[in-house]
Amino acid sequence: MFDICELHEPATLEEAKRILGEAPDLKVIAGGTDVLIRMQHGSLQGAGLLSLRSVPGLDEIRLLGDGTISVGAMAPFTRIFQNDLVREQVPILAEAAVSMGGPQVRNMATIGGNICNGAVSADSASTLFALDALLKLETSTDERIIPMGDFYAGPGKVNLRPGELLTAILIPREGYEGMGGHYIKYAMRKAMDIATLGVAAMAKVRENRFADLRIGLGVAAPVPIRCFEAEAFAKGREVTLECIQEIAALAVKPSRARTSWRASKDYREHLIEVLAQRAVAEAVKRGGGCCAD
Ligand SMILES: Cc1cc2nc3c(=O)[nH]c(=O)nc-3n(C[C@H](O)[C@H](O)[C@H](O)COP(=O)(O)OP(=O)(O)OC[C@H]3O[C@@H](n4cnc5c(N)ncnc54)[C@H](O)[C@@H]3O)c2cc1C
Repeated sequence: MFDICELHEPATLEEAKRILGEAPDLKVIAGGTDVLIRMQHGSLQGAGLLSLRSVPGLDEIRLLGDGTISVGAMAPFTRIFQNDLVREQVPILAEAAVSMGGPQVRNMATIGGNICNGAVSADSASTLFALDALLKLETSTDERIIPMGDFYAGPGKVNLRPGELLTAILIPREGYEGMGGHYIKYAMRKAMDIATLGVAAMAKVRENRFADLRIGLGVAAPVPIRCFEAEAFAKGREVTLECIQEIAALAVKPSRARTSWRASKDYREHLIEVLAQRAVAEAVKRGGGCCAD
């Protein structure tokens, strides 16, 4: 049984924002795959819930006029990995989406819930970091668009203001156009397991030199991170195996891996280097480059 004191099911986004503005202590529920688990475990007793499931349009995935791909916060992971626009333009996001949970979880779980839950293991997070994604946040009176990096405040903590809803994830054209990408989820099991490490790489190669490179890591620090030093090192360099090895070694530097029952700090650092190398090499290949020895 779930200990729920009230449930609001607004039929429009305006109504949802108004209700939340008047009662910011309501707990937003999307797919409920995190919220209901917390309720069942007793950490959210007697909560009032605001469900977004009846709000039309919040699950849309569409291409905006300027080439931005807008993924509605309520888009479930199954929809994301099956979506033609995602598969054609940002296949790395489809790769991340299909890696999460199992079929039942992917049918319920939304990308917005994955981000707002603030878990460092969120499979969409490192990929959206590597895509330079922006988050659209709305209240009944205000709207702001912020980079992913400004949203994560600590383990399980995000910068959502009172009364604020995440309505869309925006992937700008420069975040994906002409680039190859690859997401690697390392977990103990192939399905229904939380990542021990997640590595996402986006690479743009011109005349076999790195024109751009972005690497996002999950579970390498208390929040998802980008590997800016490794990215800056790559710019303009010839794509060789040696260069990719150096990039991967630099990718370990911003990490603050810790020992948990899943993996030791040393093992996680080893994984970062090995998987960053593989992710970058594959991203290069998918981006039309080739990795000379
Ligand atoms: C069996 C199982 C397996 C799982 N496996 C994985 C996995 O492999 N990888 C992974 O990343 N996760 C996994 N998860 C965790 C979970 O499924 C994801 O985090 C999921 O994306 C959460 O989405 P949701 O729609 O269910 O969110 P909810 O549970 O509805 O909400 C999660 C949090 O986000 C807030 N929220 C939701 N939507 C919004 C919004 N639009 N605006 C503001 N706040 C919002 C809620 O208030 C809550 O704090 C698993 C969970 C289960 C139960």
